[in-house]
Amino acid sequence: MAVWLLAALAHADGVPERYAQRYRTVSDPHGLIEDVRKQLDTHSETLPPTQERELLWLMGNAAINSNDDAALAEATLRLDSLAAARDDTVASAAAGFLRSRHDIENGDGDGLSEALRAAAKMQDVRDPVVAAWAKYALCDSYTLVEDARNGLPLCQQVQMNYRELGDTWGLAEAENDEGANLATLNRAAEAAKAYERSRAHFRSVGADQLVVMVGDNLARMYLELGRAHEALALSQASLAQEQATGRVSDALLSRANIARAYEAMGRRADALEQMKTTIADAQAAGKEGLLPDLLQTRSGMAEKAGNNALALADAREVIRLLADRRSPALRSTESALEARYVTREKELRIRDLEHQNRLKDLALKAAQAEAERQDEARRRQTLSSMIAKLVAGGLILIAALLFLLLRAQRRHAAELSEQALRDPLTGVGNRRAFLQRASALVRMHGDPRQPPHVLMLIDFDHFKRINDSVGHPQGDRVLAVVVDHLRETVGKFGHLARIGGEEFAVLCPHFGAEAGIRLAEVLRAGVAALPLPAEVQVEHVTVSIGLALLDGVRCSDLDGWMRAADAALYAAKSYGRDRVVASALVS
Ligand code: GH3
Ligand code: MG
Ligand code: MG
Repeated sequence: MAVWLLAALAHADGVPERYAQRYRTVSDPHGLIEDVRKQLDTHSETLPPTQERELLWLMGNAAINSNDDAALAEATLRLDSLAAARDDTVASAAAGFLRSRHDIENGDGDGLSEALRAAAKMQDVRDPVVAAWAKYALCDSYTLVEDARNGLPLCQQVQMNYRELGDTWGLAEAENDEGANLATLNRAAEAAKAYERSRAHFRSVGADQLVVMVGDNLARMYLELGRAHEALALSQASLAQEQATGRVSDALLSRANIARAYEAMGRRADALEQMKTTIADAQAAGKEGLLPDLLQTRSGMAEKAGNNALALADAREVIRLLADRRSPALRSTESALEARYVTREKELRIRDLEHQNRLKDLALKAAQAEAERQDEARRRQTLSSMIAKLVAGGLILIAALLFLLLRAQRRHAAELSEQALRDPLTGVGNRRAFLQRASALVRMHGDPRQPPHVLMLIDFDHFKRINDSVGHPQGDRVLAVVVDHLRETVGKFGHLARIGGEEFAVLCPHFGAEAGIRLAEVLRAGVAALPLPAEVQVEHVTVSIGLALLDGVRCSDLDGWMRAADAALYAAKSYGRDRVVASALVS
């Protein structure tokens, strides 16, 4: 798919199809920008989003390479709108990386933060091509801000990814960045090696201009390693090509390298003159990002040449530029983002390991299952079919028995828990059931729009006398008969429970004072009028009832509620029994 479209762009000479457009971002940035614009105009309706993204990425890079801010703005805006319209995080990251690179190269401080944000968006991406792309873009940003501590490992890692993808171009770019990081760490010999590898790879895909560009970097290393003549030759070759293709930044850097080579060869005046025009041109071209480096280079040269005034002035200017560029606040945002990125990387690596372990585990289980299956097959063969059937029958029988046993056990458990809440004599809930229910009501009493919960405590009057006159067993009968009556009367309005010897409780959720008192009165009167069976030899029995509301004011917890009802019951007893007293009337 990508092929017909990219093929529709003009071709770069001698570079394989696969890398042709990436090469053009360097060798023919203006032409590439124009081509992309044309493609976008003619195919804007039919263009698949991934291709549009790819084209815009190329265009953005070409724009940065050729200092074309308008084209860069166009590319990033279009990427942003792709991101917004299609929820395309890759497009949004691409825009971020482009802005990052532009900002860093132009000396606008928070370019690295932008790159870290973009890279963070890509950490969960599974597509290895996109993942490598994002990792390289971050490696490149670190490299550009000379943060070699973070840049070097990333640039080395991503080489592995590119090798796996067979992407020679990406590999060469990452090697070039590796060289830059090693150079920052003053590991010139290793840096030279990395640059040489990068150059070889760029040469293998016919990217002559990049061979030269990396040669520029290599030249600096040669200088440090005391190989000034080789350095000068490389830098001059670069400059020629950079000027021919209008790559302003690179040309400025090559000119500084030439000055360095002069200096190394003892041509101090030539070196200083070269730096003077280079710095002036960098300022004129608005290449603020390059200035600290150029000024520092000249400062060093001036110092060696005995021109202390110039050395000092340049050094001061460098400090001023750098202080402007990366404020402490910015540095701390960067560190926070860095830390987050590294932690996430670790997480992903751990997740990857876990995934692999799980796969191993599954493979192991599959192998075990297979072994068991074969074992079983062998066993079946050796047993006569008769025995096999018997065994199977036995197994089924055992399974059925187990099933029945399990069901009985479940029922038994359910019965036990049911029993644990039931009073055996009367069949109503016991004290534990009451407390569970009452605590639940206390917990949910919160809604003031609903009537309050009602608690009644019911105690038999002079029950001792009944026991004394007819005996305990008959007393039990009386209890059972009265409780039957109470339960029926309470019905669905509430829950009856036996909370003590001949003491009972009724809980009526959201019942309210009026209804509560009415029900209590009905209960009391019903008991007083209840005909008792002749054989119990008790003519009639009465109860006293204390009632309290969980109103959240006078009573707001279980303890207070119980105490209020108890006080009301006590009052009912002392007023003469066989009556209902509500707690509000007591206090
Ligand atoms: P009051 O009107 O003041 O409540 O007098 P009371 O005799 O009922 O006194 P109280 O409630 O303090 O005593 C309860 C008596 O009830 C004591 C006990 O003998 C009797 N009782 C408690 N549980 C049972 C029971 O399960 N069966 C029988 N038959 N009697 C019980
Ligand atoms: Mg009693
Ligand atoms: Mg009692």
